[in-house]
Amino acid sequence: MRAVDFDLPDEDDPRRLEVRAWLQAHPHPSPRDLARAGYVAPHWPAPWGLDADPVHQILLDDELARAGVKRPSGGIAIGWAGPTLLHAGTPEQKRRHLWPILEGEVWCQLFSEPDAGSDLARLATRAVRDGDEYVVTGSKIWTSGAHRARYGILLARTDPDQPKHQGVSYFVCPMDLPGITVRPLVDMTGQHLFNEVFFDDVRIPADHLVGEENRGWTLAKVTLGNERISLSGGGALWGGGPSAFDLLDVVRRQGGTRDAVLRQRLAQLYIEADILRLIRLRTVTAAVRGEPPGAEASVRKALADRHGRTIMNLAKDLAGPAGMLAGTGPLGAEAGPWHHGFLFSSALEIGGGTSEVQRNIIGERVLGLPHDIDVEVGRTWASARVPEPAERRQ
Ligand SMILES: Cc1cc2nc3c(=O)[nH]c(=O)nc-3n(C[C@H](O)[C@H](O)[C@H](O)COP(=O)(O)OP(=O)(O)OC[C@H]3O[C@@H](n4cnc5c(N)ncnc54)[C@H](O)[C@@H]3O)c2cc1C
Repeated sequence: MRAVDFDLPDEDDPRRLEVRAWLQAHPHPSPRDLARAGYVAPHWPAPWGLDADPVHQILLDDELARAGVKRPSGGIAIGWAGPTLLHAGTPEQKRRHLWPILEGEVWCQLFSEPDAGSDLARLATRAVRDGDEYVVTGSKIWTSGAHRARYGILLARTDPDQPKHQGVSYFVCPMDLPGITVRPLVDMTGQHLFNEVFFDDVRIPADHLVGEENRGWTLAKVTLGNERISLSGGGALWGGGPSAFDLLDVVRRQGGTRDAVLRQRLAQLYIEADILRLIRLRTVTAAVRGEPPGAEASVRKALADRHGRTIMNLAKDLAGPAGMLAGTGPLGAEAGPWHHGFLFSSALEIGGGTSEVQRNIIGERVLGLPHDIDVEVGRTWASARVPEPAERRQ
């Protein structure tokens, strides 16, 4: 059976010609130009997107890549906040936030807490209604980009008497409100990616509530159905950084290796990378055919995060003992991204839902094993795409 059961539109497809004409008129498009053309999130509805079906999205990717045009990177704003606002935001919230999001405004995700990670429903940050405001008290942790973000999407408990999955509300939180303290957490790569965020009687205007009070849990699960379709797999570090194929290229450029064990490991790496590539193509094929997403997305995340670590460990081993110092060893000047990747790659199996939790979900929802614990949101986003038993492909 073919892995990809569709053909990309011809070179003279009118949708291609339209993009090319636009690019001629905008040879160096700004983020604003790209946003207004609907090219940043083409799968979003008009006027923010083009209601683009998967083939149209791939075609657009193709044309922009050929022209060397980069879109504003999506992150939490385009991947999470935007789709949630599209789904449940008021007209005013959409008007206020969606264009800046498409133009590259930075948002953060204020979900995890010191005692609520995989089991996010244990979150304890409180939001108490007081007139036209909610008063928020508590703390969040591991908040990527909070120090740069203009807004955050915040989950807070509005009714502690309800069961833990209920009584939670979803807010848009301006990060410059009085009472918010952002404290840096420097990770072992040396970078300041995430933060602790403290809320000390922070007053959020009530019109920043998204959807209904106490119904935030459902909203937190909304977004991935709206995922953008792309043929490109990107790098091993959550779409960024180098990939297995990049490492194999480096090894070839450096003359290869006759070391029997390293050869085995390199071949194994290639096998994993190819399996992941095929899984991605199957996912795209299903989307193009309009089929419900299968178990591939969950399986892919569980495999891809481990694969990322394998790539970086192998790169480090290839560099030998000197590889413990950045920029040295057999990878020489090429070592930079691998050194960073090695240090960062442990995060792959934690962030966005740990590998253990991911496998638990596959066990429960794909294999039909008994229920383990409540791990329903955020941490399990790939699982949002796993079909009900009746829809499962054999
Ligand atoms: C780089 C990075 C960026 C992040 N950015 C953000 C962000 O922007 N916003 C945000 O809100 N959060 C963010 N996080 C936090 C992330 O979502 C949590 O770290 C993650 O969900 C795990 O939660 P925890 O750290 O509390 O670990 P815990 O949930 O305490 O897990 C500890 C260990 O127990 C295991 N475990 C837990 N439950 C089960 C189970 N049921 N079955 C088997 N094993 C289990 C886990 O796999 C893990 O090994 C980020 C994390 C990282 C690494």
